[in-house]
Amino acid sequence: MKKQLSLVLEPEIAFDQDNFVNKVKDILQVSTTEEAHVRAIKRSIDARGRQVKVNVEVEAFINEAPTSMIEFTKDYPNVSNAPQAIIVGAGPAGIFAALRLIELGVKPILIERGKDVRTRRRDLAAINKDHYVNPESNYCFGEGGAGTYSDGKLYTRSKKRGDIRRILEIFVAHGATEEILVDAHPHIGTNKLPKIVAELRESIKNAGGEVHFETKVTDFILEQNTLKGVVLGDGREIKGIGVILATGHSARDIFELCQHRNIYIEAKPFAMGVRIEHPQSLIDSLQYHRKERGQYLPAASYSLVAQTYFKGVQRGVFSFCMCPGGFIVPAATAPGELVVNGMSPSRRDSKFANSGMVVAVNDIDLEPYKEYGALAGLQLQKEQEQRACQMMNGTQVAPAQLVGDFLQQKVSKELLETSYQPGLSSSDMLDVLFPHIGKPLQDGIKQFGQKMKGYGTNLGQIIGIESRTSSPVRIPRDKESLEHVIVKRLYPCGEGAGYAGGIMSAAMDGERCAEQLVTRYAPNSHYH
Ligand code: FAD
Repeated sequence: MKKQLSLVLEPEIAFDQDNFVNKVKDILQVSTTEEAHVRAIKRSIDARGRQVKVNVEVEAFINEAPTSMIEFTKDYPNVSNAPQAIIVGAGPAGIFAALRLIELGVKPILIERGKDVRTRRRDLAAINKDHYVNPESNYCFGEGGAGTYSDGKLYTRSKKRGDIRRILEIFVAHGATEEILVDAHPHIGTNKLPKIVAELRESIKNAGGEVHFETKVTDFILEQNTLKGVVLGDGREIKGIGVILATGHSARDIFELCQHRNIYIEAKPFAMGVRIEHPQSLIDSLQYHRKERGQYLPAASYSLVAQTYFKGVQRGVFSFCMCPGGFIVPAATAPGELVVNGMSPSRRDSKFANSGMVVAVNDIDLEPYKEYGALAGLQLQKEQEQRACQMMNGTQVAPAQLVGDFLQQKVSKELLETSYQPGLSSSDMLDVLFPHIGKPLQDGIKQFGQKMKGYGTNLGQIIGIESRTSSPVRIPRDKESLEHVIVKRLYPCGEGAGYAGGIMSAAMDGERCAEQLVTRYAPNSHYH
């Protein structure tokens, strides 16, 4: 017999497997002679009241075997001899596009400039320890894209429940824990992602797809507004029935290539600012209304938004990609740039809470960059990153300032301990940041400090530059067919093209592009 119920539980019951199972058995009055398999199928924390509660939807199988949590099976057809399509970029968008092409009977040729997940690790160590940024292999480039050594938060604002569930199930089938199907804010963690990404790659290869690492696309084969294929760094040409361009928001050379080859692109709104780091214990006490979070509750997170004005123009300031119990990492993709981002391990057990704290870039900020056309925002972003790096003598040491000092415009005498490995240097962040970023940031953080006691004080520090929140460029496509508005057989995809903002939305966009490509250019390949 299968039973379902909704419960509101104390954290020590909801998050302790034995306590949880015993509680459910008690409620259902399961006798000692009966066998019961109890599991949570949805779980969310409600920290609005003084007492933190956990809402749990439960499934119990009494005297019967539990069904599988996932419907998805890794039952991929062999596509070795099928027509081939090209995918540029092995981030979440590219990988999920490849798997979907396979399901629909098309062979993916996945081309990635960076290295496989394991080899890539050494280049990350080099950035952290030697301040050396390899422009082909870093926190953004390499197998799994920016999603591999990321935080691995798997939530999205998308309301497409079926599509979200599908992506989560594919992750589970490739080694992620079933918890990601349960938690309202699923999270994999940077320590677990590389193995899952490698499993996804194996599925592509086992089905007859091709995956090429350390292979960079440097040109397009364009014939009368139709994309026939791509040219690689070594001059080789690869042709296919279509090209899914999933190169991410940091592939500046691809945006430049589009501009150079007259492939229509547009400037797009984005945001820039800093990372803000506090002790996790402060955030826990603020969010859970208790001194310590205890052993059951996860590290607390927050999400903040404020409106500010600078030179008469309204500017949103907001927290972005908050990483409870995490680390700040150097995420530049070329020497001479300084970019920070955040990540956390699956246990979220570092003593630091960090979050992006960014300001929307407005059209008037792009005025001085008009000559760059669609690349105006990209140029502004680049100049801010280079300015910060120059001020740090070309190293990956990050400029930083205590939050209270920043609000009072005082350079900090000393900084706090940090999770950022390359180190910090006390700086006047209003000098480092462009005024249209620095000033609104000050106003925004002041407002957040009024809502969260201690947030706007010297208990925290800001660390620059968080500049890669989203792509400053859009590669426009048709709403229905997802094909580029002018160039046929080109499918701009994922975050770089401006159609995703995170792992889940990029993965879902990859699947959609694959489906549209097959519908239009390989309709007979469908496996139904
Ligand atoms: P990308 O992941 O950027 O992948 C693009 C790929 O294309 C790269 O591997 C790149 O090497 C390759 N490429 C570029 N140019 C070429 C070329 N010319 N030839 C061949 N290959 C090329 N998102 C979340 O949802 N949750 C998080 O917790 C989270 N944390 C993050 C933490 C960090 C440190 C970072 C850096 C990002 C984080 N993100 C997070 C953002 C997330 O990783 C991205 O939104 C997502 O990876 C975008 O996917 P994508 O496939 O569109 O592009």
